[in-house]
Amino acid sequence: MTSKRVYLDWNATTPLRPEALAAMTAALELAGNPSSIHAEGRAARGLVEQARAAVAAAVGASARDVVFTSGGTEAIMLALTPGLRIGSQPVERLLVSAIEHAAVLSGGRFAREQIEVVEVTPEGVLNLDHLRQLLAEGPPALMSLMLANNETGALQPVEQASEIVHAAGGMLHVDAIQALGKVPLRIKELGAELMSLSAHKIGGPKGVGALVLGADVQGLEPLLRGGGQEFGRRAGTENVAGIAGFGAAVSAALPTMVEDMARVEELRDRLEKGLRQTEGSLGGFVIAESVARLPNTTLFAVPGLRAETAVIGFDLAGVAVSSGSACSSGKVQPSHVLQAMGYGPELAQSAIRISLGWSSSESDIEACLNAWKRLAGNLTKRDHETVPERF
Ligand code: PLP
Repeated sequence: MTSKRVYLDWNATTPLRPEALAAMTAALELAGNPSSIHAEGRAARGLVEQARAAVAAAVGASARDVVFTSGGTEAIMLALTPGLRIGSQPVERLLVSAIEHAAVLSGGRFAREQIEVVEVTPEGVLNLDHLRQLLAEGPPALMSLMLANNETGALQPVEQASEIVHAAGGMLHVDAIQALGKVPLRIKELGAELMSLSAHKIGGPKGVGALVLGADVQGLEPLLRGGGQEFGRRAGTENVAGIAGFGAAVSAALPTMVEDMARVEELRDRLEKGLRQTEGSLGGFVIAESVARLPNTTLFAVPGLRAETAVIGFDLAGVAVSSGSACSSGKVQPSHVLQAMGYGPELAQSAIRISLGWSSSESDIEACLNAWKRLAGNLTKRDHETVPERF
């Protein structure tokens, strides 16, 4: 028995890339404040601006349009601001897809009554007809749509949504937090005015993110007021080491992204084949399998299984995976994503998310499948009484 751990929960967070660690260590050794004009200050400023240029280049934006934040959640909070405008017409309501991350579903600074939820299809993809219908019913809206769902990996029709939203006089925020480093990203081609990113999903440190602007957005009220940092959009002395780590992670990831993700996709497909072969008779299936998905994500549901129990079983076998359910508070809830797709609460608690990354290996997949075989073999018949798959 080997004690080596196998990490297959890359959508939750990724290991720090060595390049990011090196950049952060170097940054921590600098004494200067990036706002100071002396040599020490200029050295720190240099690191921040180098990172800003790297993040901007990663999404086809200009450096001036990158606002560093304390993470993806803060970037989203900054984006979801009532009164944003490009021309003269401010947005007065917020539309969010039903499968967004909790940060987006919170509505940011919009009031509860200003938030409307757009349905998704049974495969977990935005329902464009419902979007059209809601837009036709009221004043200009800010739409917040993720590019890739963190649980299913399903890619969303961002470009189509952008056309529809703009035709109705609205604006688009894209939560690209799970997409960065996995699929190509160009803010202008996607037709987004705002885009949120997070460093820790691409091998950077936790607690750093960015809001990127794709147009001349007015009315972006800062969340933090004080000094004039980040072009007056986010006050406070910059997290120089974190920002440097973000930039270094992006610069390390992007040149080999296409090859890395092609290899990851092959491993993921092999994993799914293995899961089905083990679990076929118990009715396990891959969620959102028939739509375009991230290359690294598998959400595997087994009717009657408690994902929580399976995750503990995997963990004991040395494999880190997650339940598809939201568990940020430590309490596992049925996944709101699966429920929005029409699955009942029981099935929405039965899905295991396995997510891979650039350093995942064949032996990781083998270890995961071996753990699953043992777990599946131990499951009692009672554990697998079929529950209705959809309401
Ligand atoms: N949006 C999505 C799609 C995510 O997956 C996450 C992180 O899990 C977030 C937002 C929040 O980002 P952060 O953890 O940097 O606050």
